[in-house]
Amino acid sequence: MLESNSKKDFNSTVEFLIQNNIKHALNYSMSEYASWTVGATTPLMIYPQSLEEFKVVIEEVKKRKIRFYISGNGSNTLFLKLSRTIVISTKRLNKITFSQDQEVTVECGTSLALVLSKTLKKGLVGFEFSSGIPGTIGGALITNAGANGGTISESLESICFLKKNIEVEVPRNKIEFNYRSSSITRRDIILRAKFKLKIGDTEQARENIKKYIKHRNNTQPVEYPSAGSVFINNKDCAAGERIERLGLKGLSIGGAEVSKLHANYIINTGKATTEDIHNLIKKIQKISLEKEGVALSTEVKIVNE
Ligand SMILES: Cc1cc2nc3c(=O)[nH]c(=O)nc-3n(C[C@H](O)[C@H](O)[C@H](O)COP(=O)(O)OP(=O)(O)OC[C@H]3O[C@@H](n4cnc5c(N)ncnc54)[C@H](O)[C@@H]3O)c2cc1C
Repeated sequence: MLESNSKKDFNSTVEFLIQNNIKHALNYSMSEYASWTVGATTPLMIYPQSLEEFKVVIEEVKKRKIRFYISGNGSNTLFLKLSRTIVISTKRLNKITFSQDQEVTVECGTSLALVLSKTLKKGLVGFEFSSGIPGTIGGALITNAGANGGTISESLESICFLKKNIEVEVPRNKIEFNYRSSSITRRDIILRAKFKLKIGDTEQARENIKKYIKHRNNTQPVEYPSAGSVFINNKDCAAGERIERLGLKGLSIGGAEVSKLHANYIINTGKATTEDIHNLIKKIQKISLEKEGVALSTEVKIVNE
């Protein structure tokens, strides 16, 4: 439960959601949401159905100083502890608008897969990098998600943030993007983003996508719940390579296991708990530091209050 001094605010927020007919669930287990299929229980999960509703919800919880976490598709998050944190899902915020000059504006909760399929249908190429990444635009921008030789920041024009309840459009050149990181902070709230794609050979793009997916299926444990790569690659060596070199492939704690196919994946073999996954992450970090003097940091966001 929330701390007793915020119980009143929490109850008022629930009341507010009911009065305004905003979809929500009490005591919601993030195991139903996260790609690892495990996760702590949040006292309150809110599903705004539109960007306007999203903004209203943010204003309400900020006003009441309620701790909140924004979740896209939960495919890069370990929800370890949420007893005092509510979750706001962006999944229903998925409008895509096309304008002149190959520009496309996408709401933060839109899946990368939907952007890819809709842009290809319009004859636009440039989003193929995202095939197989199961995230939303918001989640992808935070880590500058990428694969297949491309990243989300490459075709980005601007991001519209919510700052002090006002929409602020920030051009691409004012935001720093690096390998699996960006200058977007935990307090920034992404509402939508604008991309500029190119008119191109969509048949060739579809062929490329088939190859990317085939490669993914051959090299990654796609049949098990996971959160993709867990650790960020260091400059000198990919994290998976290091983990393999340390002999940690197949290492397990409870139902969490370092994938035997791709050592940077931790898979849920069926009965993993959130703690199993967290403990395995910590164990790998400890061994890496002890044996190679390298601190592995996680690409995965760990919600630990
Ligand atoms: C099988 C599998 C394969 C994967 N392959 C890849 C890959 O090839 N390349 C890659 O880069 N990643 C990969 N990932 C990881 C993950 O899919 C990406 O990082 C994805 O972009 C995360 O998006 P999400 O919506 O699920 O983010 P979430 O996990 O929901 O959130 C991630 C972070 O973004 C924040 N966030 C989300 N939306 C907003 C918003 N609107 N405003 C502010 N903050 C927000 C969250 O608070 C959190 O801090 C893979 C994951 C899986 C499970």
